[in-house]
Amino acid sequence: MADQTRSLDPDDWVAFRDRAHKMLDAALDHAQGSGDGPVWTAVPDDVKTALKEPLPITPQGTDQVCDELLSRVLPYATGNTHPRFFGWVHGTGTPGSIIADTMAAAMNSNLGGRDHGANYVEQQVIDWVKTLFKFPATASGLVVSGTSVATLIALTAARYAKAGYDVRNQGLRPENGRLVGYTSTEAHSCIARTFDMLGLGFDALRSIPVDPTYAMDLAALKQAIADDLAAGNRPFCVVGSPATVNTGAIDDLQGIAEICQAHDLWFHVDGAFGAVAALSDSLKTRFRGIELADSIAFDFHKWMHVVYDAGFVLIRREDLHREAFTLRREYLKAAPRGLAAGNPWFCEYGPELSRGFRALKVWFHLKEHGIKKITDKVDDNCRQAAYLGALVEARPDLQLATPVTLNICCFRYVADGLDRESIDKINAGIVMDLQEDGLAAPSTTRLAGKLWIRVNITNHRTTLADMELLADAVVRWGQRAQGA
Ligand SMILES: *Cc1c(COP(=O)(O)O)cnc(C)c1O
Repeated sequence: MADQTRSLDPDDWVAFRDRAHKMLDAALDHAQGSGDGPVWTAVPDDVKTALKEPLPITPQGTDQVCDELLSRVLPYATGNTHPRFFGWVHGTGTPGSIIADTMAAAMNSNLGGRDHGANYVEQQVIDWVKTLFKFPATASGLVVSGTSVATLIALTAARYAKAGYDVRNQGLRPENGRLVGYTSTEAHSCIARTFDMLGLGFDALRSIPVDPTYAMDLAALKQAIADDLAAGNRPFCVVGSPATVNTGAIDDLQGIAEICQAHDLWFHVDGAFGAVAALSDSLKTRFRGIELADSIAFDFHKWMHVVYDAGFVLIRREDLHREAFTLRREYLKAAPRGLAAGNPWFCEYGPELSRGFRALKVWFHLKEHGIKKITDKVDDNCRQAAYLGALVEARPDLQLATPVTLNICCFRYVADGLDRESIDKINAGIVMDLQEDGLAAPSTTRLAGKLWIRVNITNHRTTLADMELLADAVVRWGQRAQGA
């Protein structure tokens, strides 16, 4: 009688190796041809149906699954690898990440802790990020899935540091003064969601109005803090945005830092994509004050183009960061040597115990391209957005929502004799037409009560010529809609 069933390794390594090489070629073909064809292709109904098959009980085999991957999965990506993907805030990715992610899969490391090579790679990335943002060597950080999780970690540390009582043991004690924080009305929803998850409640996050440039109104911030103090609440943090999602507005980070200092508040920066602009030599003066933050959350997968997913949380005080998360029971105890050494462990800095090797693709990317080339592409994108803004202003049938400050241009098609509602409808239609046609993929937003075509350029493959193509196409689809 056999003492065991077979392992999950291939029966035929030669055949497996051959197939794997072909799959790598398919991945590289996909990357090399990223500008060919439509930006986005809707998933056909037969593919959707095929992806509702019952749970496999017996093996289908490597070849069959690979074939299916090539026909039913690979062709229907989001589209953000294409030079004319302009929706929301998505990074482009790079071919190099295919190498790094393949190696990470081969190593199958768990970076929750212990003493092994992968941890030293993540530590290297953490040290580089401290240098990038001029944080002290005593700061700490963690590679995470994205800015949403980075924000959760940073504000958990903020709550721990500023509650004024032992919030980890006692939970929230509203009788000690309700913990409240501040961010602008233009800030990202991940901040409000964090307030909810931390048990503080959406209402505990005060939405501060913005000025005409869509940046936080600091006089209103000061007033809100004063009102809360007078009401017996306990202000603990302010979240500034180096770039807002709607328009790329830049909060006065230096001004926010000073207000935080005056009131002993934690200064968190939601730098999802904006923090990267602060690293550009030509743009950095506009982000003064970011280096004063108590914590910064940002993404490698957006304007830095590491493939999804990879974000980062940087925290000025390592001690507060660790104390806000650490809890190591007997089965996770440290050893002075051997595999259980290497303290402290990364699991002491966030909610995850098991952690994959995301840091490898970040490390690979920063070494492969260097920060200069990455920030040069940031500059290019800002020039492209400004150029699109100029194209819009030069045409009577296009209207600009607000001056382009960074990499985002919001505009719309307009025509005489149309009421507000019809113009909104036509522009929403233009965006869906462009996406379905596959020429470009912008998204929409609302500003000043009107709907706008929102073009966000965090794309290292975009060129100035793409701006001309886009402006022409918007007018073409607009005229078509109006004629219809
Ligand atoms: C994308 C974004 C987030 C959320 O980041 P994820 O990586 O998607 O979790 C937060 N803030 C801003 C400004 C963003 O653009």
